[in-house]
Amino acid sequence: MPTAFEQLADFYRDQSDLGGVAALLSWDQQTYMPPRGSEARARQSAALDLILHSRLADPRIGDLLAEAGEKETDPWRLAWLRELRFVRDRRVRLPAELVREFSLATSRAFSEWVAARKARDFSRFAPSLEHIVALTRQKAECYGYTGTPWNALVPDYERGMDADSLKALLTPLADASRELLRRILDAPPVETRFLEQKWDIAQQREFGLRVARDLGYDMRAGRQDVTPHPFCTTIGRGDVRITTRYSESSLLDSLMATIHESGHAMYEQGMPESLEGSPLAEAPSMGMHESQSRFWEIRVAHSRPFWERYYPILQQYFPGHLDEVPLETFYRAVNRVVPGLTRVEADEVCYNLHVVIRFTIELELFDGSLEVGGLPERWNALYREYLGLDVPDDAAGCLQDVHWSYGAFGYFPTYSVGNIYGAMIAEKLEAEVPKYEDALRSGNFAPILAWLRENIHRHGSIYSAAELVERMTGKAPTAQPLITHLERKYGEVYNLR
Ligand code: ZN
Repeated sequence: MPTAFEQLADFYRDQSDLGGVAALLSWDQQTYMPPRGSEARARQSAALDLILHSRLADPRIGDLLAEAGEKETDPWRLAWLRELRFVRDRRVRLPAELVREFSLATSRAFSEWVAARKARDFSRFAPSLEHIVALTRQKAECYGYTGTPWNALVPDYERGMDADSLKALLTPLADASRELLRRILDAPPVETRFLEQKWDIAQQREFGLRVARDLGYDMRAGRQDVTPHPFCTTIGRGDVRITTRYSESSLLDSLMATIHESGHAMYEQGMPESLEGSPLAEAPSMGMHESQSRFWEIRVAHSRPFWERYYPILQQYFPGHLDEVPLETFYRAVNRVVPGLTRVEADEVCYNLHVVIRFTIELELFDGSLEVGGLPERWNALYREYLGLDVPDDAAGCLQDVHWSYGAFGYFPTYSVGNIYGAMIAEKLEAEVPKYEDALRSGNFAPILAWLRENIHRHGSIYSAAELVERMTGKAPTAQPLITHLERKYGEVYNLR
């Protein structure tokens, strides 16, 4: 007779495989599915979600968890059980009917969001979003919370944090960013006009894939496709896919999206085989996942030594485009700081301000001080206040992100948490990887990836994100290393005193 733990391990392997099927359906929906397939796909995804839910909610699984919890003493198995218990406790609190309705509503809302964004008109998306907010409130009630209902949503993304602890991390960062931005805008702007050319999309794709491969994204276990909102998804072991988007008028956006998503993919590819099919084969939090993508995108691909290697290569991919542009001019252009309307295109200084705007709006939506209908107006006011910008229409404003159509409230702050973790990790990694800058300069990223594998990837979710950061750096999560990095780096790029 297999032990309770062994029975749970068998159960979870199937659960994980079915999760991969759900991920594949969702990937297909966002890449190749014809538009008229959306109703059927919504039903298929909802049916699969229901199967996953019912299997997890089965009282037998609860009994096995209790039994295994009493018998097992090995720390690895205890972490395994803790993770499954967490996921199950979250799901069993939700009635099956709510899960089904939520899945249907979000699947449909995605199509509504696409249509509204195309029409640049939030009012077309508002009814779907209102429905999703109402369902999300019901979820919050099922989970239980103290303070704002929003707090009930955070553990799905950043376990251990809530509105107050996130404010404590993000407020000093936002204040420092606004002050730094003010000083940058007083300095002479960096030269970027040479970026305003036509950049052949096929060449962009080739160059991006070359960099992704060099960094260590294993393309025999991955692929890249095109979607309006770039993402990374794991279908199963040996199949971690990314997407990007291209624009002929922009060289850096798709390249950085490719590198960003490759960072996510390399984390997933770095999960050890021993964790396959277990609840530990996951990042401990979205912020930790984001720390990996942001590390490669920002700390590596925005650095001078990186471009010392890749600039001459880039020049060859686009003959005649950059012949007159010295490396230093290009480097400063890569690190230009210009307040813009789009989060995914934001520079490092403005990025966290985009996040704080969404964080503020979500808190207001859930504490009841903001109605869904008032969202565009509030959004536009915050963009004026934080970034000094007027939002011309909803597509450039509150319809730019896909997240709310999924009902992913509580998710946005993880982007800044990722930047915060990323800076803490970078400080340590740069000190510990021998000849770090030489590694970048020679395009030999293997020692860097090996450090991340050793210190982060191989642990899956055995440790919590905060524990992992503390093991690595000896510090509790803090924005200080990020603030120090921003002030040092942009002080240099803009010759600030
Ligand atoms: Zn990301």
